[in-house]
Amino acid sequence: MTIIAGNWKMNHDSESCLSFLNEFESYGKIPKNVEAVIFPTFLSLNAFLKKTSYIDIGAQNGHWKKNGAFTGEVSIFDLKKMNINWLLVGHSERRHIFGEESSILKKKVEVSLSLGMKTVYCVGETIDQKKDGKTENVLRGQVNSIKEFLDDENLIIAYEPVWAIGSGMPAGAEDADKASSFCKDFCKRNIPILYGGSVNSENISNYLKSGMIDGFLIGGASLKPRSFRNLIDAV
Ligand code: PEP
Repeated sequence: MTIIAGNWKMNHDSESCLSFLNEFESYGKIPKNVEAVIFPTFLSLNAFLKKTSYIDIGAQNGHWKKNGAFTGEVSIFDLKKMNINWLLVGHSERRHIFGEESSILKKKVEVSLSLGMKTVYCVGETIDQKKDGKTENVLRGQVNSIKEFLDDENLIIAYEPVWAIGSGMPAGAEDADKASSFCKDFCKRNIPILYGGSVNSENISNYLKSGMIDGFLIGGASLKPRSFRNLIDAV
């Protein structure tokens, strides 16, 4: 099974979600070897849930508390109650723009897994860390910070080098394999590893050759129905 996950970030409103779905569904059933999931904005989750059971839906973020004085936040518990079964945690934009640190990400992972949600935990090095040869150190620290949960079957790790996200400069397949192999070894099991960073329908198959990459987290190329479907067809 290959996971194809679309991270829509702050793109598409509930209306454009519906036209995405109409066109996307017209391309026919998703092949059985692919698990497709889209992470739209919070405001579009409902539109997706009402319209389709055709594709899985996830949230891009969530708060670990059930409720309380957390202005602007959305509880992971409430997301689960509305039937959202996937959560993204620790995307590079959450870490770097919104300053989310390991201690916070750990709480999100803990709650999400405790609710039985498929939890995609993002890791990856910055360009400076890569240049300094620190990629493995960074990955070790990021994965180690959720070490209590590495056995959970709903945990998925997404390796997304920060410099490859939205840059048009994807990591080479060898680098993605190396990171995947490091994470699998660290977890002492064949945990699913996604690669993310400037994936498109032309380069996606490069990452599947070695069998080390179990799926993809895709931003820009997931936003248009034809392009998202091409990614699915390419695997
Ligand atoms: C992402 O948002 O996680 C991502 C990988 O974006 P892009 O595919 O546009 O690089």
